[in-house]
Amino acid sequence: MSQSLSRAPLANHTHMCVIGTAGHVDHGKSTLVRALTGIDPDRLAEEKARAMTIDLGFAWLSLGNHPPIGIIDVPGHRDFIENMLAGIGGIDLVLLVIAADEGMMPQTREHLAIIDLLGIQRGIIVLSKIDLIDDPEWLSLIQDDIRAAVSGTTLSSAPIVPVSAVLGTGLDALQSAILLELAHLPPRPSIGAPRLPIDRVFTVSGFGTVVTGTLYNGSLRVGDTVELFPTGLVGRIRGLQSYKQTLNIAFPGSRTAVNIAGIDHTAVQRGMVLGFPGQLTPTTLIDVRFRHLPDTPHVLKHNTAVKLFVGAAEINAHVRLLDTEELPAGMEGWLQLRLDTPAAIAQGDHFIVRRPSPAETIGGGIVVDPHPASRWKRFTPSVIAALNTRLQGTPAQRLAQTAHTHEPIKRTALQKLIGYSDHDFAIALQSALDEGLMIVFPDDTLIAAERAHALIAAIYDELNEYHRLNPLRRGMPREELRSRLRIKHTTLTAILEIAPGLVQESDMVRRTDHIVRFTKAQQTAVDNLMRCMSDTPFTPPSFAEAAALVGNEVLHALIERGDVVQVQPDVIFSRAAYDELVSGVLSMIEYYGAVTVSQFRDRYNTSRKYAVGLLEHLDSLAITRREGDSHVRGRSVR
Ligand code: GDP
Repeated sequence: MSQSLSRAPLANHTHMCVIGTAGHVDHGKSTLVRALTGIDPDRLAEEKARAMTIDLGFAWLSLGNHPPIGIIDVPGHRDFIENMLAGIGGIDLVLLVIAADEGMMPQTREHLAIIDLLGIQRGIIVLSKIDLIDDPEWLSLIQDDIRAAVSGTTLSSAPIVPVSAVLGTGLDALQSAILLELAHLPPRPSIGAPRLPIDRVFTVSGFGTVVTGTLYNGSLRVGDTVELFPTGLVGRIRGLQSYKQTLNIAFPGSRTAVNIAGIDHTAVQRGMVLGFPGQLTPTTLIDVRFRHLPDTPHVLKHNTAVKLFVGAAEINAHVRLLDTEELPAGMEGWLQLRLDTPAAIAQGDHFIVRRPSPAETIGGGIVVDPHPASRWKRFTPSVIAALNTRLQGTPAQRLAQTAHTHEPIKRTALQKLIGYSDHDFAIALQSALDEGLMIVFPDDTLIAAERAHALIAAIYDELNEYHRLNPLRRGMPREELRSRLRIKHTTLTAILEIAPGLVQESDMVRRTDHIVRFTKAQQTAVDNLMRCMSDTPFTPPSFAEAAALVGNEVLHALIERGDVVQVQPDVIFSRAAYDELVSGVLSMIEYYGAVTVSQFRDRYNTSRKYAVGLLEHLDSLAITRREGDSHVRGRSVR
């Protein structure tokens, strides 16, 4: 696949915006959209059904020479909030419509809370139906009421614009206010991989599957290969439209319709996400920072069944309260949400939580980790601390937190987990390495320094225990250590290389300061054995005899330490005797060209058992090589 995950940032003139409407039912949202755009949002559904071209199913606004502005206004009274939530996530500016005759109503408050929870920073409060009010005092009362309600939310300083859609009063002022707000929007750079949360799907005869949504992050092009998350289905972009215009490229921030080849429309559902293949990993467990709304009537309990709204998706989920027994209204807390079905969710996504029945919004917040390592044990301080860092930390700290993986992780995999663009990732990684938050291994894999230190500590624990239980063993078999830590060979090697105070010798690992120490009684037995062995160096006690004298463990320790050399299962020599025999054999070979068992036996006045034992041992080390009845020099030098 040739498409690159990052594309050059785009100039401002391609910047497109999306406005959303919110507010209590019947407060005049659709009428307002119609008055502003000349497009009837209520008729869009019918239009869609007989569309000849790809129809986006939403209105758009042309103001001056500003590029077209999409307006999402989802009509329908039932499940209004559910509908609104599907589209509101991607908007730049919200019009909160409040009818002058009724003022703040329950849905107005609920929508305001959602706007605030979704972090929508820009809004205009449209005071609608002002033609119904003659009393200026009433108008100012209503406005005071609104100001009080929005204070402390993202809309606290939003302008209030009085309009009458019916008479056309205030529409010019509203248009100016919209342009002014949009002018303050930072441009959405086109970086990273595109993400299109799907809010509608339909078929158009002759075209096939069409999905619509507000495009995030990166751009999409005709011909791009795309994956439908979380289904794993892959298709190709056959056509793109934005604001009724056919395009070759769709930019982030714009309402976009995508005609996909290779994915049947029956496989697509609202809430699924279109992106590049492999870009997201669907999840069923997410760590979130949650804000419980102040005016909800209940405390939030552990294991409560809720509806989660994220992107355009609506997913049944269960709440796990991580840091409180229960969460009272108005409080914030750390939650883990268990999803009933997999969803494509990214770090930093805003979400809303509703109670299924009676349907009410109870809160929302930010996804801090879409792929937690496990179902956290509740009330675990280290888990809460890690979540706090993730939420508040610098990009480098968040990267290190993400790299708190069981095994070291490849750069590409880490970037995918954290979802940074190439540029942001490179910068965050550099500072994480500079600040000592992360470690890079020789094979270019990465791990959080904290995780590496935890592994080193675990190795220490294992070795301390091993040395305590096996004081006469020099070290712990490497494989046993590895399997206890449940890490890969390469990981253990990499960690041992950076761990102070640990040594690896052949196939064992030990603490540098561990030495084999015998008890007084053991030492007496050892002295005894060593005396026997030096009394008759070339016909020493057998392994079994020696073990009977000092015990198996001690004898193994002597062998490990090199004081005793085991040449055959039952044949041992003291180190001094062994060294003398080896050099003797080599000088005999040098002198005679070869040595036989009987020559050797006679020369050292020993028995056949010892002679055969030693020569076969030397053969096995390739110090000697058997030729008929004789042994000659082997290929190994000594
Ligand atoms: P929505 O449910 O918020 O989309 O509200 P609608 O746009 O469907 O409007 C609800 C009712 O209020 C309709 O009967 C509209 O005709 C009426 N309405 C909307 N805007 C105005 C206005 O500015 N003045 C008056 N008098 N009525 C309005």
